[in-house]
Amino acid sequence: MPKKTFLSMYGPRKCKICKGNIEIVNGYRDGHNAEPIVKGRCCDACNSSIVIGARLYDLFKNNGGK
Ligand SMILES: [Zn+2]
Repeated sequence: MPKKTFLSMYGPRKCKICKGNIEIVNGYRDGHNAEPIVKGRCCDACNSSIVIGARLYDLFKNNGGK
């Protein structure tokens, strides 16, 4: 077990997509679910610019693509 550091417990988490820090909003620091792009969490910017787009594309592919 790696020793938990102050930063790993209380510091910002890293976005799995852009590797930036996930912004802490009202004490919630987990950001957004980064799937289906990557497994893990991502920041607000990546969620709205990349993840939501990919989900819409998936939806379109599965439902509309005959
Ligand atoms: Zn990001």
